[in-house]
Amino acid sequence: MKAAVLYEHGGPDKLQMGEVPTPQPHKNEVLVRLAVAGINHVDIWVRKGLPAYPVTLPHVMGADGAGVVEAVGPEAEGVTEGDRVVIIPGLSCGSCAYCLRGQDNQCDTFEIMGTKRHGTYAEYILVPDQNVFSIPDNFSFEKAAAFPLAYWTAWHMLLGRAKLAPKEKVLVVGASAGVAIAAIQIGKWRDAKVLAVTTSPNKADKIKKMGANEVFVQEGGKGFSKWVLKATSGSGVDVAFEHVGPATWEESVKSLGRYGRLVTCGATSGPDVKMDLRYLFSRDLALFGAKMGTQKEFQELAALVFDGKIDPPPQGKCPGPQGCPEYEKWKAAATKVIDLDHDVVLLRGGARLEAEVDVPEDLEAGQVGLQFI
Ligand SMILES: [Zn+2]
Repeated sequence: MKAAVLYEHGGPDKLQMGEVPTPQPHKNEVLVRLAVAGINHVDIWVRKGLPAYPVTLPHVMGADGAGVVEAVGPEAEGVTEGDRVVIIPGLSCGSCAYCLRGQDNQCDTFEIMGTKRHGTYAEYILVPDQNVFSIPDNFSFEKAAAFPLAYWTAWHMLLGRAKLAPKEKVLVVGASAGVAIAAIQIGKWRDAKVLAVTTSPNKADKIKKMGANEVFVQEGGKGFSKWVLKATSGSGVDVAFEHVGPATWEESVKSLGRYGRLVTCGATSGPDVKMDLRYLFSRDLALFGAKMGTQKEFQELAALVFDGKIDPPPQGKCPGPQGCPEYEKWKAAATKVIDLDHDVVLLRGGARLEAEVDVPEDLEAGQVGLQFI
């Protein structure tokens, strides 16, 4: 089968179209012919060879994808050939203590799709039966592949961990990132007041369109807590949604009101943060970590997405021909490019995709889709 193969770690040029053996399903495995592969930031970390994601080269990366079930193993349950499915991008064993109590995101052998085993940048993917989820006939593969990793993570953070309640106020920093857009949409669906902070003035309108009640543009991400306190009449927010790290952490803490909860899933700007403990105890604050999400949470989220209650933006956004240095390469590699107002670029690579496939350095979740059928 064709796949975008990582032959060695490094820059985007290390990822090339190639041939790898088509896997066959055994036991409870399912072979899915992928229609669309979604791209996430974790792909870049795998490509660069971060120690957290050791892979055996050559490797096929990619966590998100959707397509049609081609074949099933003899013990596979709940899925049949021809089913339209989305890939659930978290792999868990189903039998360890964490899995048995529904905390399968902390499974002893948990892994993100495409970080150890081969992922979705290919014509086919082999997954356990519990990692496919049916999508409705009228729901597009592009949308199905756009939401899992980012929206699942944001869902687990806001609802599973921080227990965001209706009418509460939530602060989302780094608001143009994929996981942050997901948080804004989930916050809106939850009927919370969403305050968003971004360093990109040209993305403020878009962030508002996604559902943020108010957007603050701040160079360098410093000093936004004063804005938050003003926007909340001095009370601060109930929940701070963090994924950035030291660049925003102190201001996020200062933005919290009494009994506020900070939840984080990432450390994009670094792993070490500074914290004034006086905020923590004097305001009864709580800190939560979050990793991906649980199977049950995926089911809850997917039902809302398929129902249109949470509507991920079109798969394939890229800043447009001028803003995206990789655009011409992508264009050369694609059989069809749909350019919506120069804001959204949907790339349909097709099985004839032969040129090298690059992932832009600044790419966020769901930004570009490769289509294989
Ligand atoms: Zn387990």
